[in-house]
Amino acid sequence: MTFDELSTENDLIGSILIVDDQPANLRVLASMLKGKKYKVKKAQDGETAIMAAISNPPDLILLDILMPTMHGYEVCQKLKSNPLTKNIPIIFISALNDVFDKIKAFEIGAVDYITKPFQEEEVLARISSQLTIQTQKRLLEKDKRLLEIKQKKLEDEIKQRKETELILSQSRAFIFSILNSSLDGIAALEAVRNDKTGEIKDFRCVLVNQITANLFNLKVDQLIDKLVFKDFIDDKKIGILKYFIDVVEKNIILKKDIRLVHNRKKSWFHITAVKLGDGFSITIRDITERKNLELKLNRLATIDSLTQVYNRQSFDFRLKNEWHRCDRTQKPLSLILCDIDYFKPYNDYYGHQEGDKCLKKVASIMDTIVKRSSDFLARYGGEEFAIILPNTPSQGALVVANTIKKEVELANLLHQKSEISQSITLSLGISTVIPSSHYSPEDLVKNADKALYTAKQNGRNRVVANILNPF
Ligand SMILES: [Mg+2]
Repeated sequence: MTFDELSTENDLIGSILIVDDQPANLRVLASMLKGKKYKVKKAQDGETAIMAAISNPPDLILLDILMPTMHGYEVCQKLKSNPLTKNIPIIFISALNDVFDKIKAFEIGAVDYITKPFQEEEVLARISSQLTIQTQKRLLEKDKRLLEIKQKKLEDEIKQRKETELILSQSRAFIFSILNSSLDGIAALEAVRNDKTGEIKDFRCVLVNQITANLFNLKVDQLIDKLVFKDFIDDKKIGILKYFIDVVEKNIILKKDIRLVHNRKKSWFHITAVKLGDGFSITIRDITERKNLELKLNRLATIDSLTQVYNRQSFDFRLKNEWHRCDRTQKPLSLILCDIDYFKPYNDYYGHQEGDKCLKKVASIMDTIVKRSSDFLARYGGEEFAIILPNTPSQGALVVANTIKKEVELANLLHQKSEISQSITLSLGISTVIPSSHYSPEDLVKNADKALYTAKQNGRNRVVANILNPF
């Protein structure tokens, strides 16, 4: 049992294993093929042939049919049942007088047969033809594998894309469900910058829910991709663009209550804007109801419930503010303190209910006279009222005080217990100052009180003015 390698040259065109029990046959074939630059291996029996084919598969096997130890068919079947050798083409060699079942040979996997004695051209033509088929098969196989790899890659890509699309559509659905279930307006906007300076000039609407769109009486689609300040918001009226720019450029969280006229109704909104990429996200909450209640409560806390003018607490607060304002601008600040003459006897005689009515009436007369928006009327306590007159010199305060005094007299509110008149009269003390560090708001009040005292001492129903500092 031997097999030989007859050639190891590099330029060989194919390797062929020849299996034949007759050394003479082996020799003839080997020398023929070697001459045609085939690499040739030889085996004299089936077992050796199978081992050789497994250890180093040739491109083709020439296989004798009649051999003493293992029949050619059996060798063929064994080679065809082994994955390592099943693809090697096998050409049977048979003698002319051999009993040879060609159909069976093809059935068990042979590709051709050659009959002895050999016709050289025929043998070479058949071998060459089989090797060409084999090469073609290999190329096809390679192409098929490449195609399969491409196909698999494509399928993976499609699968991955479908998964991504599913995730995207789920997250999109999730975002939309959040947007649409929110009771607040929600939007995301991106900065639109000047090409040359890079400064933010507007914001483009990227995402918005219907609640936000409702503020503009629009549909969501009508806002998407639009420049909100160019198309929808007149910043000259609202002045909010600069705050949004700060959100983006300085990463400041903006929380602000803003008042807007919406559907011809004044509404309050609380907005929260947070930087998001080169833009911001915003939530908008309608706080009109809460804000109105707040304003109402604030007003209730500042108003005297009986007379409906401001209360003492508001007076103290306002006086300090006006003091600082006039201090800054160096304008005169006047204060009138005013007392209803003989009010205690009035109360005692007419009763408290009538006393309250009288206070209300006097307050409403004063209220019609104190008209400038900066002027401020308050009930100072009991039957005393105070009027703050910013940017008003003493002469101006005198005019106001005298008008009040006159109008109350003209109202002719009967007062049988007054020692100076048949009707209600007032005593008024005025103090005026240009605020400075030498004085305090309390000095202004004390000085007005002194003037009021003088007015009372001098017979009531009169106005006395004191000036705290010369100007
Ligand atoms: Mg034989």
